[in-house]
Amino acid sequence: MKIYNTLIRQKEEFKPIKDGEVGIYSCGPTVYSSPHIGNMYAYVCWDVLVRTLKYLGYKVNNVVNITDVGHLTSDADSGEDKMEKGSKKEGMTVWEIAKKYENEFLENLKELNIEMPWKMPRATEHIAEQIELIKKIEANGFTYKTSDGIYFDTAKFPDYGKFANLNLEKLREGARVEINEEKKNPTDFALWKFSPTDVKRQMEWESPWGVGFPGWHIECTAMSTKYLGETFDIHTGGEDHINIHHTNEIAQGFGAFGKISANYWMHNAFITFGGSKISKSSGGLYTIFDLKEMGFDSLAYRYLVLGSHYRKGMEFSVENLKSAQTAYRKLEGLWFEWRSDSETKNGIISEKFNNEFKEAISNDLAMPEAMAILWKMVKSNLDNADKLATLIEFDKVLGFNFGIDSRKKEEIPEEIEKLVEERQKAREEKNWVESDRLREAIKDKGYLVEDLKNTCKILKI
Ligand SMILES: [Zn+2]
Repeated sequence: MKIYNTLIRQKEEFKPIKDGEVGIYSCGPTVYSSPHIGNMYAYVCWDVLVRTLKYLGYKVNNVVNITDVGHLTSDADSGEDKMEKGSKKEGMTVWEIAKKYENEFLENLKELNIEMPWKMPRATEHIAEQIELIKKIEANGFTYKTSDGIYFDTAKFPDYGKFANLNLEKLREGARVEINEEKKNPTDFALWKFSPTDVKRQMEWESPWGVGFPGWHIECTAMSTKYLGETFDIHTGGEDHINIHHTNEIAQGFGAFGKISANYWMHNAFITFGGSKISKSSGGLYTIFDLKEMGFDSLAYRYLVLGSHYRKGMEFSVENLKSAQTAYRKLEGLWFEWRSDSETKNGIISEKFNNEFKEAISNDLAMPEAMAILWKMVKSNLDNADKLATLIEFDKVLGFNFGIDSRKKEEIPEEIEKLVEERQKAREEKNWVESDRLREAIKDKGYLVEDLKNTCKILKI
């Protein structure tokens, strides 16, 4: 497989440290507010990465952390703590806030059919590991103390800024307005922050340096080291992490162990919201649950994401999502139809299309190409049983749940039969709004309805 590695700014052949096994660390969510579809874009992309590596035969150990502490509103180790801010706003404790939004994140994973990561460690449950790591960095001579915390001295790491191609001279010039005058270099960052003397923080811990809380980069190095080792295979994150967060993780890894923490660094671009209509009237960005309320299937959003390349990002609009939903429904309908055709014959995976598909996904996750190959297969003259077998094979990467056993035919309960009848009536009356509403209601109860010429089929999802 070829991966675009931010370390060298080009694609290169992926070679795991251990044969047949891959360790991946993805920077996870800060759980202080509802994840919006822009946040979830990255997790769909990295789900495709995990599924692709599994498809290619690797055993994948992937870690997605939960940042439930110490994330300040500004990158410069100043400003308000996001968790404490959320707590004040909602009148809940920081612990309750963290739990609430961690649960929302998990629901989002489920909606988008993102496989549960191998490990999902919480930062607050790894304070001891973070302290140990800071002690190591300190013992190696990379730290100094100021009145508000323990800082990493970036001048001690000669390659600091190389990863992000940072212009350190320019940063130094720009630093004259720096708030923290005790910092030796503008790029130095906090490893441990002391609790302020005038305010009582809800989250704080004892440490060898005094009561306080960890800086926001140290948790990732501590948890990636614990679960994947001092150097592991792939580190992922948003492209906004390159300049500061990942640059600092690399510095911490060097300070503690004298080596690079990950061999491959992959970064996703963002989804953009061009038109002004994209924000909700309340001002926030759409969540998956907002889209559901608007009548969209969460997997239609997944479909939309798969049509983009993770390094290019995607322009989101309701119109684009509508087209994605139409295409997704079409695929779902075909899958449904092929299933009946395949009852008497076991399909064979098309080698030709499977090879093309594999080649696309192995080329730095070229998903737009992979989706084009999928439709080429759908429109080909393979027989339906073979198309079904090939679709189910591709679905291991696409993740639309076409392959799972629970989608088998079952007895249809009376309640569902009734809703289907009502819907059939609405269709005869050409009341499409009502028929769509009923289709969704049936789907919410776990059944899929597919229209044929004069009748319809029902299937348990
Ligand atoms: Zn991180």
